[in-house]
Amino acid sequence: MKEHIYTIPLNEHFSKLEGCPLCGLFDMMERNEIEAITGASMMEPSVRVKTNEYGFCERHFGQMLLVGKKLPVALILESHLNEIHKDLHKKKGDVQAKKLKNLEEDCYVCRRISDNMDSVFSNLFYLYRHEENFRDLFAKQKFFCLPHYRELLEYGAKNLTKKEFAAFFEVANSIEMNYLETLHGDIDWFTRKFDYRFAKEDWKNSKDAIERTVYTLTGHMPKFKSDNIEI
Ligand SMILES: [Zn+2]
Ligand SMILES: [Zn+2]
Repeated sequence: MKEHIYTIPLNEHFSKLEGCPLCGLFDMMERNEIEAITGASMMEPSVRVKTNEYGFCERHFGQMLLVGKKLPVALILESHLNEIHKDLHKKKGDVQAKKLKNLEEDCYVCRRISDNMDSVFSNLFYLYRHEENFRDLFAKQKFFCLPHYRELLEYGAKNLTKKEFAAFFEVANSIEMNYLETLHGDIDWFTRKFDYRFAKEDWKNSKDAIERTVYTLTGHMPKFKSDNIEI
């Protein structure tokens, strides 16, 4: 059944045809995880053991602080900090440094989402192999952010036969290369608009080219808005 639990959300996000569909799914999971960790799962001992050990990355601390009530967040922080202190207490410098390095690179929410994305990709390639409708929907996508495009290639190579992957790659690669060319045209036009010779020309589709390029590169839309840029 593992292959089927994301069928509905996958079809839903691939039908939207706006933005990267996998970012849409990622955002949905992220919201669910943040709500759970600052709500229902907060007091669960099995979850607390994990949040104490893994901690959170800056992005997810930020979201918890925006979404969660102060007391649940403070309770999570209190026991996490206590655990770190116990873990480092009376350890040598190099051992402390290693433990802290691991902690900096870890995050409870990132781990949860990454596990779920694993199932999303198995589900996606199950649909791709078995459902023509989904293959058609896939071919209609405008683009994928580069981190999700990379994951599509990695999971595709693992989940498809060589022949299937070759056909899949042709479709995915053509979507992505066309988009990169268009996006490059937009950001190139944006830079030309700073040249007095083009100042009076139309912006075409370049006004938000900075935001869209950063989104494509990172998978996260920046809060920055080009509207405020001075030319
Ligand atoms: Zn994405
Ligand atoms: Zn994280």
